[in-house]
Amino acid sequence: MRLLMAGSPGSGKGTHSRRLSNCLGIPHISTGDLLREQVALGTPLGLNAKAFMDRGDYVPDEVMVGMIKDRLADPDADRGFIIDGFPRTVTQADALDKMLADLGQSIDAVIVLEVPVEEMVRRLSGRRTCPTCQRSYHMDDDPPADDERCNDDNTPLERRSDDEPETVRHRLKVYSERTAGVIEHYDTDSVVKRINGEADIDEVHRRIDEALGISGSAVRPPVQSG
Ligand code: ADP
Repeated sequence: MRLLMAGSPGSGKGTHSRRLSNCLGIPHISTGDLLREQVALGTPLGLNAKAFMDRGDYVPDEVMVGMIKDRLADPDADRGFIIDGFPRTVTQADALDKMLADLGQSIDAVIVLEVPVEEMVRRLSGRRTCPTCQRSYHMDDDPPADDERCNDDNTPLERRSDDEPETVRHRLKVYSERTAGVIEHYDTDSVVKRINGEADIDEVHRRIDEALGISGSAVRPPVQSG
């Protein structure tokens, strides 16, 4: 299966992409995670991208298109993928169409997680992420067992620098100005699956499974996604 996970910041794209990746045994390709990896490694690309990310602005299209092109060329993407956080502009969507057409591939579904704005702000401000495995928590809804450490690898959790309230508001504005319209690019009934994302994680996952016609899929061991 080749899936795109869409929705505004805080809609749950990362959480549900990781879970689907485990269920379906296909890699989770998150452009946000790929960028944060480059930032952590201190590469020129990472240093350049960090300035945009810290402001809540988009990283330039040519950087993002190149990054996805390289990632889709990895052999594990042959059996399918979930792309989370791309395309975010019409230019990126056009470039992805071309890339897939060149490979003789197409997108099976675009999952759009719909969540009201106040709820997205609440989710992002309570979010903490494990810098080692990228697992995310919410300090009220889904707190870690041991105060501020990851349940899986005991790494101290971090608040993303772009989850500060002012930057969150800017990210939501950029999303509504530049990305909300990208959904229209795929807007045929059979491809776009709009999911009400305002429910607990299990319920949203069930709704996604139902929309994809894979109800009751078992969770498999995690797939390496990088
Ligand atoms: P969120 O969806 O919550 O904003 P992500 O982790 O997906 O979080 O992205 C974090 C940041 O990375 C974005 O605010 C943006 O700066 C950058 N980014 C990620 N994907 C893209 C993309 N496709 N185009 C431009 N910038 C991107």
